[in-house]
Formats: sequence, C-alpha cells, structure tokens
Amino acid sequence: MVIGVGRVCMNCGMAKVRCEVCGSDVKRLTSSKFQGRILCLNDHMKEVEKYKQHILKTFDEELEPASLIFDKARKEGPEGYTLLAVRRARNSTHVWEAEYEKTEIFLMRCS
Ligand SMILES: [Zn+2]
Repeated sequence: MVIGVGRVCMNCGMAKVRCEVCGSDVKRLTSSKFQGRILCLNDHMKEVEKYKQHILKTFDEELEPASLIFDKARKEGPEGYTLLAVRRARNSTHVWEAEYEKTEIFLMRCS
C-alpha cells in the first residue's frame, strides 16, 4: 500500500527516510507526509485515526458574543462527537476554538 507519496522515481522511492514518530527508517515509497511530518505507514494510520477522533470548530467573537458561542459550541457540535473544551484560539483575541472528541472514544476514556 502506498499512501501520501507524490510522484517519485524508483530511486527516490527506495531512499530511506526517518519516521518522525517512532524513528524507524522506511523507504520513501512506504512513508507518508502528514501535517508536515514524515511518518511510517503504521504511524500514518495512527495519526489519521487520532485526527479524525478530534474535530475543531472555530467561532469568532467579533461576529457573536462569547456567551452565544459557548451555547452554540455545546448545542451545535458535530453529530457523534462530544464537546471537550472551548478555548481561545492561539494568537487570537477574538476567535474561539471548540474541541470535540468522538463520543465513543470519549466514553471509552471515562468509564
Ligand atoms: Zn513510525
């Protein structure tokens, strides 16, 4: 299985790259770039899975008051996800981030 590779010739494909998560050497052909990091296929799968388990939604306080944002974040989350936190987005004074986790995973963690 080959994921996430652009066009590489055989030589480049066979060159070794280091997975930035587990540190193992893998052929470029069987590596992937995910969110700017080089990953082996195992870690690629894990990262993609983790990524899907969390969803971020942003709200702008310049468009609606914070109290409304908290309300909306709680009531209008994505289907099947549980709200974990609402926090100020990094480097912003008016954008809020709502973080959601897949409900089945959330429940697994808390039981
Ligand atoms: Zn790895």
